[in-house]
Amino acid sequence: MSLPIYLIGARGCGKTTIGQALSQALGYAFSDTDHNLQLTTQRTVAEIVATEGWDSFRARETESLRAVTAPATVIATGGGMVLAEVNRRFMREHGQVIWLNAPSTVLADRLERQPEAAQRPTLTGRPIAEEMSDILRERAHLYRQTAHHEVNAMQAPEQVVDQILQCLSLARAS
Ligand code: ADP
Ligand code: MG
Repeated sequence: MSLPIYLIGARGCGKTTIGQALSQALGYAFSDTDHNLQLTTQRTVAEIVATEGWDSFRARETESLRAVTAPATVIATGGGMVLAEVNRRFMREHGQVIWLNAPSTVLADRLERQPEAAQRPTLTGRPIAEEMSDILRERAHLYRQTAHHEVNAMQAPEQVVDQILQCLSLARAS
């Protein structure tokens, strides 16, 4: 049975982009916990946070993680998924966990260029570069301890996918 592959990392590291490409390369299904949350609640992340607060959003995120977990599936997770110990343990026990690691400056540049980034609530109301720097400082150890493998997410998407395939010994002869 092919275990699910969980992609973790801060906003902008490429979980959705790389997840879709990786799922195609492997012939796996693709799921995105943020997207699942939006489908099941019919609300955006920003709306859930605004109406119910962050704690409720985090609880719903844990439900989404469980809901999308299935064999032969690449799962892009929300950037804060690793904050809860229950989520960290769940991912490590149920699949292979990959951290897409990139510096905060790269993440901030990507998010500023992405129109839908504006729909995401900022945690602090401060400039995005400062916020991403704080987020990585707070969470890097959680991403590191949760991941079975760490990959360099600054590479071109095809290279990131290749590196993941190599880590998982799933590279196919071509
Ligand atoms: P996440 O799902 O982790 O928040 P996304 O996949 O939405 O990240 O990517 C955020 C932005 O960065 C998108 O505009 C995407 O096209 C771009 N991006 C993602 N991965 C790469 C990469 N390896 N190189 C260059 N740009 C990337
Ligand atoms: Mg995403």
